[in-house]
Amino acid sequence: MMTQPIILNEIPFEIDVDRLMKELRIQKSRDLETDFRALCEEAYNHAHPKAMIRGAYIDEKGEDYVIIEGVKFKSRVLRINLEVAERVFLACATCGMELYEWGQSQTDIFLQFWADAIQDHALQQAIEYVRSYIEKTFNPGKLGVQNPGSLKNWSIKEQQKLFDLIGDSESSINVKLLDSNIMVPTHSVSGIIFPTEISFVNCLLCPRQNCPKRRAPFNRDLYKNHYELN
Ligand code: SF4
Repeated sequence: MMTQPIILNEIPFEIDVDRLMKELRIQKSRDLETDFRALCEEAYNHAHPKAMIRGAYIDEKGEDYVIIEGVKFKSRVLRINLEVAERVFLACATCGMELYEWGQSQTDIFLQFWADAIQDHALQQAIEYVRSYIEKTFNPGKLGVQNPGSLKNWSIKEQQKLFDLIGDSESSINVKLLDSNIMVPTHSVSGIIFPTEISFVNCLLCPRQNCPKRRAPFNRDLYKNHYELN
């Protein structure tokens, strides 16, 4: 029997104004600071980050695929990452439609840019909340996460299958998956969270240079040494 998704629609949201100002290179004690602080205050009225999580069991593991509750995902990296896992957590997190629509309503280019950063800030808090909720509720040990489309090895086209397994994201947390595989709100993310013995984040296998969101250095030899088929 499929488990019901857990809906998290009361995720706390706090803007770390100083940190965001640093990231956005807004100098203190200038008019821009006043404008930015006012925008942050406005954002609080619209920010409702949300997430949904569903636990699921792995049916089968092949050389370059895994089958989770009857659905086949094709990725050698995912397959190897799930080596020790029997159960995974399928998840979708979002900054929330309310904040997204507020961002879309900004007409000034500066305000749009800042609103975009605030939406990302809300999404990051939703992601952290999901991780800590899983840790506290299920005590799974060390966790890794993989997102469809973030690595060449796992196509974004598999996102629809993931959404089918997660549950009705549109009615639960107001996240729509378009035919193009883009999520609306755009500051949303979906993925498979899994117990692991080695730390894994997508960035380890991603060669993109100068990515402001990089969380771990690119490891040139990791794919060859750990994931390549012999
Ligand atoms: S380096 Fe940037 S683009 Fe590449 S996986 Fe990490 S966050 Fe994503």
